[in-house]
Amino acid sequence: MTVRIGVLTSGGDAQGMNAAVRAVVRTALAADAEVYGILEGWQGAVDGGDYIRPLGWDDVSGITALGGTVIGTARCAAFRTAEGRRTAVAHLIEKGIDRLIVIGGDGSLTGTDALRAEWPDHVAALLASGAITPEQAERHHSLVIAGLVGSIDNDMVGTDMTIGTDSALHRIVEAIDAIASTAASHQRSFVVEVMGRHCGYLALMAAIAGGADYVFIPEQPPSADWHAHMASVLRRARNAGRRTSIVVVAEGAADADGNPITAEHVRAVLSDEMGEDARVTILGHVQRGGTPSAYDRWMASMIGHAAVEQVLGDASEAQVVGVRANRPHAQPLVEAVAATRNIATLIAEKRFDEAMAARGHSFVQMHAAFRRLSEARTAVETPDPDKRVAIMHVGGLAPGMNAAAKALVRLGVDHGFTMLGVQGGFPGLIAGDVRELRWGDVEGWTSTGGANLGTRRWIPGEEELYGLARSVETLGIDGIVIVGGFNAYRALTLLQEEKKRYPSLNIPTVVLPASIDNNLPGLQMAIGADTALNVAVQAVDRIKLSASAAKRAFVVETMGRHCGFLALATGVAGGAERVYLNEDGLSIGALAADIDAMVAAFSGGQSFWLAIRNEEASAFYTTDLLTRMFEAEGHGLYSVRGVVLGHVQQGGTPSPFDRINGVRLAAAVTDWMNEKLATGEGIQAFATPDGIRPVKELDDLVDWEVRRPLEQWWLVLKPVLAALGHRPGSDVANT
Ligand code: ADP
Repeated sequence: MTVRIGVLTSGGDAQGMNAAVRAVVRTALAADAEVYGILEGWQGAVDGGDYIRPLGWDDVSGITALGGTVIGTARCAAFRTAEGRRTAVAHLIEKGIDRLIVIGGDGSLTGTDALRAEWPDHVAALLASGAITPEQAERHHSLVIAGLVGSIDNDMVGTDMTIGTDSALHRIVEAIDAIASTAASHQRSFVVEVMGRHCGYLALMAAIAGGADYVFIPEQPPSADWHAHMASVLRRARNAGRRTSIVVVAEGAADADGNPITAEHVRAVLSDEMGEDARVTILGHVQRGGTPSAYDRWMASMIGHAAVEQVLGDASEAQVVGVRANRPHAQPLVEAVAATRNIATLIAEKRFDEAMAARGHSFVQMHAAFRRLSEARTAVETPDPDKRVAIMHVGGLAPGMNAAAKALVRLGVDHGFTMLGVQGGFPGLIAGDVRELRWGDVEGWTSTGGANLGTRRWIPGEEELYGLARSVETLGIDGIVIVGGFNAYRALTLLQEEKKRYPSLNIPTVVLPASIDNNLPGLQMAIGADTALNVAVQAVDRIKLSASAAKRAFVVETMGRHCGFLALATGVAGGAERVYLNEDGLSIGALAADIDAMVAAFSGGQSFWLAIRNEEASAFYTTDLLTRMFEAEGHGLYSVRGVVLGHVQQGGTPSPFDRINGVRLAAAVTDWMNEKLATGEGIQAFATPDGIRPVKELDDLVDWEVRRPLEQWWLVLKPVLAALGHRPGSDVANT
């Protein structure tokens, strides 16, 4: 008998739940399983009947761009009782369901595990009362479950991100950007309250990405004298050039004695004690709403796909499928929920350092980085002009370059360096187009796209090194940070080889990775890649809407050079049927099979088909050629349009992740620079999330010929796309 999987969303809704549901349904269908949607969360299981109904391929078409959850969610009191759960078991067995994928918060997952543990008892009782037959009892003797965490709070221990968090950050940061512009005009202060009862993730990351001045999070409550500390931080920032003060408060914030710190409370302190014109904005449910971010779509698709594999496999213990280092990561549900709940206990018991540590190393680091970024310390107190560190951009424009430069300037100033901005990459440095950047000079750089310092792809050859060395010497530069792409790494290797001949180039030089192509070594996400992806996915959303009135296929071309990240992630997040990558190449045989599938899909009632083509997928099968070929072979059944997204992908407002990533890497880079300047080591290196690595390691990581890293983590999305894009019955073989 065919396996039947039930899928439900439960508890608070979160953007990206739909992508997870779609991935569950389509992966299951691709594996010849059947899927039933349980509508309105656990309430649907308790109510039974039509609330538990089959979901087909087309039922989940076009839902990834929608916020919330199309199968509904609820909080269900009846399910908290054993009687309610028994009724739910009867209804599930009636429909032949004994495998479940539950998408919800820790409450929902706890309830699910309670059900799993009690299942055999309920089966026995239902059999005894005659509610189910002996065959049903035999066939459905146990329940297999997998949980996906849908929660905008990012509060689950053991997974890097939960579904919805990134989208919520998008909403918050959009709001802070908007508030910041009006606040700056009037020199006002704003207090912004964000969600997070026990978890300060949203508040901290929003404060970093929004360029705020102060943050209150539950895990690290301030002492009772926080008024004075906050006032001194805000005053210093104003003196150093800020025109606004923005304070972010998590809804669960309290002081070290457990007294709640509300947004209104902070506002009163700002106006009464500091004389500020202060306003409060409580973002509330806005944070849950709106279209899911690109990350929440591809990540939820990836783990939805993995959850099906989990429940179809040998899952004796309930698992939560989360994400670690951008790959699916399963862990025992009971442990994950217990560790998560333990943090609330640690906070209640005032064991704050343990609560912080339990959030993970990166959270602690980012908290420290935020304080150093926002406190404007040495800018005002102890400027130390001894060490001069230059910042410049090399390579194609990447959104988030400004945010990274700002973080470098402020963290560098915090270390006591004199920070210098080089205008226009290497040519600018050779020409001496360099100016000092003080703490206040980079105000407002967090939220702007483009590169205020300009960027150039050009890097010096051997013959230009003399000029470069002279300029570095004349300007008294002691260290260089290059925020840039592939050419920056090439320049680094040249400097490493030639520095013996030019002593002034024998200084610490480090590359901070930024490229929308995401083709840089030693890391998963370069600055700019997430923004470019969001821009591409939003464009795909619009393209889909434009096609809604006709039977139409689209071939959408993305950037990425030889690197498939942007195309593949756009394909998964945008719901494409096919993605054409340089990594795979294109052949007439594969295209013929795709055309067969396309014709079959349109003949079978499908009204839209999406192919994403990386710009370098093939020198011969261009976007234009594919468009014509697909249309010719449709013989009027559908029309085809080609769209080259082009430079819009470089032009977005930096996403929260790109801003946060910039700060994280800038913190590592400035710490490293501080160390190397102290020891006087002239070393060439590049930044990765795992530390700063010497240039000689590049050869182990880079394919210089095709300009991409040897390890391409994003290929983990290929089987996901294959399962989600291949409509059963319309298709030859998954390639
Ligand atoms: P979230 O899943 O977002 O954390 P809740 O904690 O409100 O949200 O849980 C959602 C639903 O999951 C509840 O209304 C209830 O039906 C079920 N649930 C939560 N906790 C339990 C539990 N301990 N036992 C049984 N069911 C539970």
